[in-house]
Amino acid sequence: MNDRAVASAVTAWHGAHARDLPWRDAPAGARDPYRVLVSEIMLQQTQVARVVEKFGSFLERFPTVDDLARAEEAEVLAAWSGLGYYRRARLLHKAARAVVDEHGGRIPDDHATLMTIPGIGRYTAGAIASIAFGQAAPIVDGNVSRVILRLEGREEAADDRAGQKRTWARARSLVEKSDEPGGFNEGLMELGATVCAPRNPRCMFCPVRECCGAFASGRQDAIPRPKRAAARTTLFITAVLAIDARGRRLIEQRAETGLWAGMHQPPSVERADRFATDDEVRAELGLRASSEIDAFAHQTTHRDVRFRVVLAAGARAGRGRRWVSPSAIGSLALGNPQRRILLETEVPRRAERAADEAAGGAAGR
Ligand code: SF4
Repeated sequence: MNDRAVASAVTAWHGAHARDLPWRDAPAGARDPYRVLVSEIMLQQTQVARVVEKFGSFLERFPTVDDLARAEEAEVLAAWSGLGYYRRARLLHKAARAVVDEHGGRIPDDHATLMTIPGIGRYTAGAIASIAFGQAAPIVDGNVSRVILRLEGREEAADDRAGQKRTWARARSLVEKSDEPGGFNEGLMELGATVCAPRNPRCMFCPVRECCGAFASGRQDAIPRPKRAAARTTLFITAVLAIDARGRRLIEQRAETGLWAGMHQPPSVERADRFATDDEVRAELGLRASSEIDAFAHQTTHRDVRFRVVLAAGARAGRGRRWVSPSAIGSLALGNPQRRILLETEVPRRAERAADEAAGGAAGR
């Protein structure tokens, strides 16, 4: 099969098998560019099912690029809550502001101009140009990369620099041969997501099986080669849960950079090698830990984060901390572990009462 035949087979297959997803409200190639922008950024590093849950409410909150540009960053982060990788929310927000400030609120239709917008990289620019505007711009994500490596029978890691260049070149060649660039690009991603899966690809259902190098040689599971594992680090976080007599939680905001940048959390002490002692918690936070009520582990892309949750007695607001009711916490930007600590931790009644009594007049401050 030549590239024209591959492109047309993938597009036809996609036409018959595309999943019904909320951002696919019009045929690929003629879709609202704002919806493409939001969905593509949400889908980076996040499972489709999770994006399906959040996409509708995010669009309801920010129906247009103007609405998103006008919003405060805290509102955008709160609406993004649950999707993780909050850096993407900040970039999306920046992109919306640039579209409004520099392009009159209209998302540009050509790849080169799209690439000048902060937060829009080569992949997102290709997705918008092709899926919204029907242009022959290539896109390569993890799914596309795997399909192309297997088609070409290249036993390489997907993050091999020279290999990536070849993959982008092939993606370009394919989309340029396509009569429906948006449908083809989306189809190639869909093929990787649903048929040419990382393990046990369902080659019998693949529209390009007859020209697949990996299938011909039975090397599907060897391609792509596993990436070299990045060194993981461990972080120990002692989180202090302070609850006042009205049931409000004491919260603070994290630093503007780094892990969970700018998001909210219970007052916390972090160590690279162990949990902070109660004396260290008191010295650093001015809070007195009364009892440990939870402990759990959380994984991020590069870190194993271990949490120890302690209840505090006699806590006060101030030092950048404030009391917030559970219902209001739900609308703040929170990482999943912080949400669990602040809203889902079971507090033993006796311990809660003791904390209340010790907190005394702190309530209301
Ligand atoms: S034949 Fe199998 S390995 Fe080759 S592209 Fe199709 S699903 Fe992937």
